[in-house]
Amino acid sequence: MRILIAEDDAVLADGLTRSLRQSGYSVDCVKDGAAADAALATAQFDLLILDVGLPRISGFEVLKRLRGRGSALPVLILTALDGVDDRVRGLDLGADDYLAKPFALQELEARVRALTRRGQAASAVVLRHGELAYDQVGKVAAIRGRMLDLSARELALLEILLQRPGRMVNKEQIVDLLCQWGEEVSTNAVEVYIHRLRRKLEPGGVKIATVRGLGYCLEKAADGARKAT
Ligand code: CA
Repeated sequence: MRILIAEDDAVLADGLTRSLRQSGYSVDCVKDGAAADAALATAQFDLLILDVGLPRISGFEVLKRLRGRGSALPVLILTALDGVDDRVRGLDLGADDYLAKPFALQELEARVRALTRRGQAASAVVLRHGELAYDQVGKVAAIRGRMLDLSARELALLEILLQRPGRMVNKEQIVDLLCQWGEEVSTNAVEVYIHRLRRKLEPGGVKIATVRGLGYCLEKAADGARKAT
């Protein structure tokens, strides 16, 4: 689950980013409307948290352009406490929900869960690969019903692989998908995450194949059995 936060208040943006990352979301953060517009036009997100009062291009304009491109991305707008007009305008422009500042982080997280659930409703919530099941909303992975103890990064990596069954994902793609702007994720780090994830999956019979110089993919269950002999 990848969330874009567009918020020019550095303290608030930092707090939101940290708390959502702790909850296992991949978070990108931009500080003005032009950067938000550019990010939304080029990258894939599962949710946008949008301050309406942004420099360069307002949050309203960002929202208008997003919906103008036909995107159904769930959008949570952040408005001032007394910003009733802003809320109405935002909802009219296609926002899905709003929060008035200041708000409690728990409330934001509950709204985020509800909105990402709604966004996922149309697509599969539980991704499966043989005996492995991954719940994208609950962020829980299990093999034959036994829960796996995976870190937030490992879960994100597993989600990337599960979303591309039988297809190769190269390190650069993983870096791009995992990378949260302002934070370096090197290709070496990807190797470490893959190594750790592999160690946790293999006892359950789920294998991540490495194709040297190309990337990684989850092996089909039958392939795994054949290669194990
Ligand atoms: Ca602002």
